[in-house]
Amino acid sequence: MPRPRRSRPHPLPPPAARQRFRRQLLAWYRRHGRDLPWRRTDDPYHILVSEVMLQQTQVDRVLPKYHEWLDRYPTFEALSDAPPDDLVRTWYPLGYNIRPHRLQSIARQAVDEHGGQLPSDPDTLLSFKGIGAYTAGAIRSFAFRQRAAILDTNVARVLFRVFIGKGELKSHAMTQRLWALSETLVPRQKDAFDFNQALMDFGAMQCPARKPRCLVCPMRKHCRSYPLDC
Ligand code: SF4
Repeated sequence: MPRPRRSRPHPLPPPAARQRFRRQLLAWYRRHGRDLPWRRTDDPYHILVSEVMLQQTQVDRVLPKYHEWLDRYPTFEALSDAPPDDLVRTWYPLGYNIRPHRLQSIARQAVDEHGGQLPSDPDTLLSFKGIGAYTAGAIRSFAFRQRAAILDTNVARVLFRVFIGKGELKSHAMTQRLWALSETLVPRQKDAFDFNQALMDFGAMQCPARKPRCLVCPMRKHCRSYPLDC
């Protein structure tokens, strides 16, 4: 989700509400979080591949392709040399075929300018064509274990429902407000990885766009959207 320019700031949740949210989310994640292969690596290339695949595709469809892609192109160098037709064939049937070419463009920039590695600082990551604010945050948080915020569709929906409840979720102003919320909520470096992974799982499993599981939700007592009937 792109990061809009800042305008008038909105009030942020007080420290006690932030801590409660973190505590409840992490407790939920310990019970329900998914064991996914990209959570067992800190290789920035592997994290990047998973993030780009997950942008438009469900986890169960991504899993076999993630392994196949990394077997075929195990490094940025291998990916940067691959013929375009080969990329599209390997990507099939994930769809939205701009994504394998975007990955190759990032790989070529990594090889040409950074010795075949991804940098860890946000400004250099954002200088890559194909890496936006969300992907940069995910790489910093998941590969380099930095205290970095993320905001994809799932995370935006959860933060909007819990802390805001009213307004236009997809507006420019709301996106800006949700980025500020995500940055405020992400905990110290030690827990940032689990917190961001937990937000994504919570959005996919507990509070999806349709049929959120409000009646058995640990956030229900303080959620501004409870009870939601989707
Ligand atoms: S109470 Fe419902 S809307 Fe609120 S976070 Fe939980 S599942 Fe989502």
